[in-house]
Amino acid sequence: MEWTGYRYLLILFVAIRDIRQGEEVTFDYAMTDWDYFEFLCNCRECDCRNVVRGFKFLPAGKREEYKGFLSLHLERLLKEFGSQLNLQ
Ligand SMILES: [Zn+2]
Repeated sequence: MEWTGYRYLLILFVAIRDIRQGEEVTFDYAMTDWDYFEFLCNCRECDCRNVVRGFKFLPAGKREEYKGFLSLHLERLLKEFGSQLNLQ
């Protein structure tokens, strides 16, 4: 690819389950980042965690559910440092 001076950002979303027609699509920020943010969630889902934080703070079951659907950065981090990571 020839560098033209422009920067490109590619964001690819992959659904982890079927999406019903008309359903609002949501995104869990914990699937892309380790721990540098924290904010209140307004998703209104019955299983909402109320506070959106990084992957580090996910419950173990959610971490397992998201495996294979994480950002390349997180997949690499888990592969390289897995058992050494300080998971909450
Ligand atoms: Zn929520």
